Amino acid sequence: MLTSYLVRCPFPACDWFGSLLPTQDTDSWRGSVPTTPVATFECPQCRHQWRARVQGDDVIPLPLEQQPQLVF
Ligand SMILES: [Zn+2]
Repeated sequence: MLTSYLVRCPFPACDWFGSLLPTQDTDSWRGSVPTTPVATFECPQCRHQWRARVQGDDVIPLPLEQQPQLVF
């Protein structure tokens, strides 16, 4: 069952903060370390996606340099 997490958008121009459900697009991070749960979030404000490591109730955004490059 999916839970929502309190997250802050890591994109400096946005800085949205709130409760967010991870996207269900789990394929995008397959291939990284399988024992590390990584969730993908999509900001409802700026529509950027970012990935974060899930540790219990906390999510730790991965550095933006490690994010897949998105083209808009
Ligand atoms: Zn944002």
